[in-house]
Amino acid sequence: MNWRDIDKCFLVLLLGGLDILSWIIWWWISGSNSDLHIWINLDFYPTLMTAYSLLAFGFLIFILLTKLLYRNPIYNKLVPYITIAYFGSSFIFGGFCVGILSPATIAGYVSLVTVALVLFERKVVYATVLPITSFILICISMSLAGTLEYSPIFSQQLQSMPLYKNSFWVYSMVYFYAPIFFISIVLFETLLIQWREREKAIQQASIIDSLTGIFNRRKMGELFESLKEQQGAFAIILLDLDHFKVINDTYGHDIGDIVLKRVARLLTENIDTEDTVGRFGGEEFIIFLKSDRLADAILVAEQCREAIASEIIYLDHQQKLQVSASFGITVARYPIHSKEEVVRQADQALYLAKRNGRNQVRHFFEIKTIVPKERRQTI
Ligand code: GH3
Ligand code: MG
Ligand code: MG
Repeated sequence: MNWRDIDKCFLVLLLGGLDILSWIIWWWISGSNSDLHIWINLDFYPTLMTAYSLLAFGFLIFILLTKLLYRNPIYNKLVPYITIAYFGSSFIFGGFCVGILSPATIAGYVSLVTVALVLFERKVVYATVLPITSFILICISMSLAGTLEYSPIFSQQLQSMPLYKNSFWVYSMVYFYAPIFFISIVLFETLLIQWREREKAIQQASIIDSLTGIFNRRKMGELFESLKEQQGAFAIILLDLDHFKVINDTYGHDIGDIVLKRVARLLTENIDTEDTVGRFGGEEFIIFLKSDRLADAILVAEQCREAIASEIIYLDHQQKLQVSASFGITVARYPIHSKEEVVRQADQALYLAKRNGRNQVRHFFEIKTIVPKERRQTI
């Protein structure tokens, strides 16, 4: 599906050529087995062989042209039209030979149109499939009117009996449709595998912060709701790196990013497997703890604070860098307020930590009257 059009055309032309080969093999098997002669129309043999030799030669020419003009921009534009039109023509001829209303033709037509829609742009498919379909309809009406012979490769004897009772006819139908069926299945399986992988990647991207590799704010918001429903009570730690703007201004944004990644890793390493850390935004992180005890939350926050403050980040030119973070804690208990309210509480505690000199852990319950104006609206 991610191939260039010209590569898809090359494959289709190759498969078309192989399909012609399978027809020639069918005729060779039927013709060389005298027991089967009652079912085939030997008079049609020269016409069929001439037509199939010409069609095979055509496929060969287009395959060579596609190789030779691989980089030609005009040919690249034309080749999907040429490929579908040529493949379609060879299919109509096959359909005419085997019976334009036979199961192999009808099933083949449906499969090939679907495959074409998957592989090529819609305008290319419709521009070519519509004339091909009209041509098939003309063939059907001509056969109906008796002006065009119906399934000329089969003998009159075969055609005069109920077809489904003739094993030669049934096996021939299976033989002609099997390659188309097989190719369609492989193609759709490949498409589904790619689609599932893409879905997975999109899903992953929607919950993971691309810089740090931990959960993003959106996922943390969802998690808040599920924790609220499952547990009823849990502790929240909000942390913000101290003077991070200075780090960016002094060492550059790239070093700032390295610091963020390192902090995300340190936080992940210093929380329990049952607890969850996410990037809340910019240089802020949020942790949800399984426990709803303030003492547990203070312990975890202190552990993270120490881990960050004692981490030495070595820069390229042998310079060392150390950062710190301020922490605000709150506990969400029944009846739990909205995300916004709980985050506001943690943010107030964090604000206290900043005001008191940074690199420290504070909690909401020690705030008495000093309440800063609301800084955050949504999670
Ligand atoms: P304070 O101690 O009061 O928190 O000061 P501060 O400098 O950390 O806070 P401020 O809000 O002034 O600056 C935050 C900085 O974080 C500014 C912004 O450029 C930077 N920042 C936000 N997101 C990213 C990021 O993804 N990568 C980098 N390198 N910097 C970021
Ligand atoms: Mg900040
Ligand atoms: Mg900061």
